Amino acid sequence: MTRRVAYLRLAQETNALSPAPTELADFARTHLVLDPGELARRVRRTGAEVPGFTRNAELSGFARAVARFGRGEVEAVPIASAWAVSGGPLSRSCYAALKGRILAGLAAAGPLDGVYLALHGAMGVEGLVDPESDLLAEVRAAVGPGVKLAASLDLHANLTRGMVEGADVLAGYHTNPHRDHAGTGFRAGRALLAAVRGEARPTVAWRKLPMVLGGGVGVDLLAPMRAIFRRLGRLSRAPGVLDASLFMCHPWNDDPTLGWATYAVTDGDQALAERVADELAEHAWAVRHAQLPDLPEPEAAFAAVRARTGARKLGPACVCDASDVVGAGGTGENTRLVRALLEDGADLRAYAPIRDAEVVAALWQTPVGEPVAVDVGGRFDAEASPPLRVAGRLARKKELSGFGRVVVIESGRLALCVTEGPPMVMKPSFYRALGLEPFRADVVVVKSFFPFRLFFLAENRLTLYVRTHGITDFDGVTRLPLDGPVHPLAELSDWRAEDQRRRSA
Ligand SMILES: [Zn+2]
Repeated sequence: MTRRVAYLRLAQETNALSPAPTELADFARTHLVLDPGELARRVRRTGAEVPGFTRNAELSGFARAVARFGRGEVEAVPIASAWAVSGGPLSRSCYAALKGRILAGLAAAGPLDGVYLALHGAMGVEGLVDPESDLLAEVRAAVGPGVKLAASLDLHANLTRGMVEGADVLAGYHTNPHRDHAGTGFRAGRALLAAVRGEARPTVAWRKLPMVLGGGVGVDLLAPMRAIFRRLGRLSRAPGVLDASLFMCHPWNDDPTLGWATYAVTDGDQALAERVADELAEHAWAVRHAQLPDLPEPEAAFAAVRARTGARKLGPACVCDASDVVGAGGTGENTRLVRALLEDGADLRAYAPIRDAEVVAALWQTPVGEPVAVDVGGRFDAEASPPLRVAGRLARKKELSGFGRVVVIESGRLALCVTEGPPMVMKPSFYRALGLEPFRADVVVVKSFFPFRLFFLAENRLTLYVRTHGITDFDGVTRLPLDGPVHPLAELSDWRAEDQRRRSA
């Protein structure tokens, strides 16, 4: 008997402190596939699901699960896929348009047995708390009560009661930095197919910790999280367990229930699901005091670069602008690090990105080689990010996939790459595409917390995180509305009472 299972994506990680709303143009710049036929081609083995980011993401993994476990009896029905880089909340109209396309696609798909949704779990929409729960509820209403729903989530999802009750199965990434997008879609697909066929009866349990930060830098390859991720892997493959996840929450989310969470889904065994979710919660709670390292100011970072004169010849220092991490929803228009490079780091050959669509528009007709002087940055919030006067020579103009139009201004020893869209700079290919060889620089500025460490492995001789002042500072969490005491803002000796309260909220 042929089963029909639809698949779709709506994903973006929202920084609630960002003044830059996310619009359809931001999805279009990153990944927006509204034609089902095109989506089906992209998730095939020969296709590229999200060109420029990864060939295989969640939907390719799901398609692989259908190919592997479908026994030729499962039809995968493409709907639509939308993914934008991290940023401010989606505008109401942007969310309405994307949700409308998804619901129309499901209506046009005909009778279904299951739906797989690739979601983020920390998406925000202006004026709407917990949009993923809203989407799950609307999809449920559209397809009917008997249809099985599975969703994958980012490791940084803020798991809510609405998500847990809105889906039969949830599966989160098991890596940080994330590199198992396809594997997570595969896990969600495998569990969904088992449920659709009646071969498994998904039975879930979860825990919601009063904890927004902890686990040190959170990387799965490093202590203290390495041991927890290993245990998570073992538990999710244990007999009777269909899947398990740990969610470390994006800390700039304005859902009042913000916090870490654990989740387990078993085949009909409630007690086992409770045990797995509970065990993971205990381990997560135990690492809550592992803090992030203190970050140096730019001056100290530049001194560290200068101290490695010999190593500089072998490759640059990768400097993460920790106060304006586009990968965590920073606007990318923060001028503070650029100002420091022009003033205190003027002796260093440096490449840095900054977002300013107006400067790009103003310079697009200017011939390369001409002298230019512009006020750059601070378009969304001039107080948080004061505009900066930059004078120099227009060195390059180029349109880059994912970034929009880019102009490069050479000012002293700094190559400033002004982008039209959010400058999600985490790969050396960004600079090379602009004629800037990373090996010739002392400093390359990156705008991701961790992925750049993988992509810059060959070039990077020194990793530095600098703090200036911006919306991806970790103390931003103190500006968010929380529904009760959470670590580290409050002293809590036990998590269970707050877990009970938060799960029933
Ligand atoms: Zn994440």
